[in-house]
Amino acid sequence: MIKPSVLVIEDEKSIRNFIAAVLEHNGYGVLQASGGEEGVSMASSYMPDAVLLDLGLPDIDGTEVLKAIRKFSEMPIIVVSARNEEAEKVNALDSGADDYITKPFGTDELLARIRLAMRHIRTSGGQEKVFVLRDLTLDYEKRQVTVRGEEVHLTPIEYKILALLSRNHEKVLTHSYIIKEVWGPYVSDNQALRVNMANIRRKIELNPAEPEYIMTEVGVGYKLV
Ligand code: CA
Repeated sequence: MIKPSVLVIEDEKSIRNFIAAVLEHNGYGVLQASGGEEGVSMASSYMPDAVLLDLGLPDIDGTEVLKAIRKFSEMPIIVVSARNEEAEKVNALDSGADDYITKPFGTDELLARIRLAMRHIRTSGGQEKVFVLRDLTLDYEKRQVTVRGEEVHLTPIEYKILALLSRNHEKVLTHSYIIKEVWGPYVSDNQALRVNMANIRRKIELNPAEPEYIMTEVGVGYKLV
């Protein structure tokens, strides 16, 4: 099972550390940013499964961070606001936040909000829950991949690429399409995709030099068959 990842954008170190500790203890992978610009850039490079965004940041306004992330991703974003920031909270929801949580909050509330936000995204679209192709199985709900009966440990990015290929199997996906879907519009070089694809093949193919699942369409992209 692949750990879901949460990006915490919060300038107050003690709060950030508290949230990170709670999430890690509960099985999440945590990314941390102490400012808005760093947060946007981490969101686009790592494509976390959810974002916890403090509205009161020192460099750019939390709502601007939200709008910047929404330009490239629909990832769940939960805004964190102080009691006296009602207007900012509403503004954030209008700008595309999925949910909000008000300081001070307890660990149960925090975990419940994150679970809920992630469930929204995972059940939207009404797609099938499990993909099976010969000896390869993807369980989208558990984010679990098995090959020849053995669980395969993929990184979150590797999983996203394989899940994308499986949802479009038998179809050629171009390099730029995969990059846009996985990393967002601000990444344009193929290097990271090539490296990740080599790793996926090493993990799922019997012989990565003669792949049976992921085919290369030279100069175009990849196809799962
Ligand atoms: Ca703050």
